[in-house]
Amino acid sequence: MRQHPAAATPTTHEGPGSGPPARLALVVDWQRCTGQGVCAAALGERLDLDRWGYPVGVGSRGAEVPRGLERAARLAVASCPAAALRLVRHRTA
Ligand code: SF4
Repeated sequence: MRQHPAAATPTTHEGPGSGPPARLALVVDWQRCTGQGVCAAALGERLDLDRWGYPVGVGSRGAEVPRGLERAARLAVASCPAAALRLVRHRTA
């Protein structure tokens, strides 16, 4: 099965180095998001929809993906018909 380009290796906000381990977070590109809600169906444990069908809980800094949900998060990214959802790595404090 072909992989959706948005599901490729997450981008990095911070370079390598010491510090807390990087975690995955979901980020929505609001310019692309069309509010179809497919992402919430794929990752209902982490994403909810507002009354217009746009995902909530994924602010500009992203919504952290809890351990054990990485695979579901990648599926959500791959399922987005607008390629508006992506995974990034960020460091927790
Ligand atoms: S699946 Fe993509 S386009 Fe649809 S609501 Fe989620 S992020 Fe937006």
